Amino acid sequence: MSRLSATLSRVKPSPTIAVTTKAQELKAAGRDVIGLGAGEPDFPTPAHIRAAGIRAIEEGKTKYTAVDGIPELKAAICAKFKRDNGLDYVPAQVSVASGGKQILYNALMATLNPGDEVLIPAPYWVSYPDMVLLAGGEPVIAPAGIETGFKLTPEALEAAITPKTRWFIFNSPSNPTGAGYTWDELKALTDVLLRHPHVWIMTDDMYEHLAYDGFEFCTPAQVEPALYDRTLTCNGVSKAYCMTGWRIGYAAGPQDLIAAMRKIQSQSTSNPCTISQWAAVEALNGSHDFIAENNTVFARRRDLVVKMLNEVEGIDCPTPNGAFYVYPSIAGLIGKTSAGGAKITDDEAFATALLEETGVAVVFGAAFGLSPNFRISYATSDEALKEACTRIQTFCKGLS
Ligand code: GLU
Repeated sequence: MSRLSATLSRVKPSPTIAVTTKAQELKAAGRDVIGLGAGEPDFPTPAHIRAAGIRAIEEGKTKYTAVDGIPELKAAICAKFKRDNGLDYVPAQVSVASGGKQILYNALMATLNPGDEVLIPAPYWVSYPDMVLLAGGEPVIAPAGIETGFKLTPEALEAAITPKTRWFIFNSPSNPTGAGYTWDELKALTDVLLRHPHVWIMTDDMYEHLAYDGFEFCTPAQVEPALYDRTLTCNGVSKAYCMTGWRIGYAAGPQDLIAAMRKIQSQSTSNPCTISQWAAVEALNGSHDFIAENNTVFARRRDLVVKMLNEVEGIDCPTPNGAFYVYPSIAGLIGKTSAGGAKITDDEAFATALLEETGVAVVFGAAFGLSPNFRISYATSDEALKEACTRIQTFCKGLS
């Protein structure tokens, strides 16, 4: 292809998707690969939610719907925000899209002008900066390293805000670190934001229900009601409800912003899949019992992975209280050479050598803006995790 847009040259393909695709290709070619790249639960979508999708098909609910969601789903989302977060929204403040990604993208497209800055704590989920670039804005990265538990401090937030800051993107529990902010930690950040009325808050609450060790989730508009009018609270059914492929994300916020997002969606993709919307109604309104059961399994897997990784000299793996990721540091391994002769110059070289020499697929830290680390998604079977961690241990022991 000879001519691509200038905008496209500013962005890269999604590294999480690239690693997942690579692992699938190697598997298809007959290689013994354990994929710990993709952030998606290995559990099937619960039966009652699947049944709602099948019912929708049988009942002929297969036509176009309102661009940003059927009334039944918007009502279920309003009820969810009230029930879980104590937040009052009416349906006109709610937008439904094809996954959390489209929600964030619509919001950025609807609001950014050239030169506008979007403040993103690092490590961040891979798509935030590139979505900002696609929308014509400038990502501004604020460090939130391992020494502060991968959490942004109020000082670092204050220091990164400029007169051009349009949005602050907040994600807790975090992809890729699993770190969840306590109420007090979040309050310290919202106190800073109160002093900067030109900064809007985009929260990515996708991992809300994936919390361990008694961690209590909270979201900015709940912690500081004075920020309600400039907060877009984003969420979705993908992770907690094991519905990654159904593609339903949603958000609630100021009506004029929601209307602007609807305008973009009306001229791009129209409504999210009708069948998925009906399944999402059941997900939000139906029984949530399976979430606690899944979390028991996730916590056990997390403990297994953290323990086995920390047994390796040169790896430092904190224990996160949410999501299904760990984000170990490999500072102690940089500069070494693998048994297969690969020089571990950085975390990308580590992940590449690990995949080639052991068949374990992980995502390298540079993709998330903080090195030298790597991300493991532990949303896979205990057996696969044990085998993968054993291979990582052997690989690291072979470094010289
Ligand atoms: N959010 C998931 C991940 O981080 C899915 C892949 C993606 O959309 O980036 O692995």
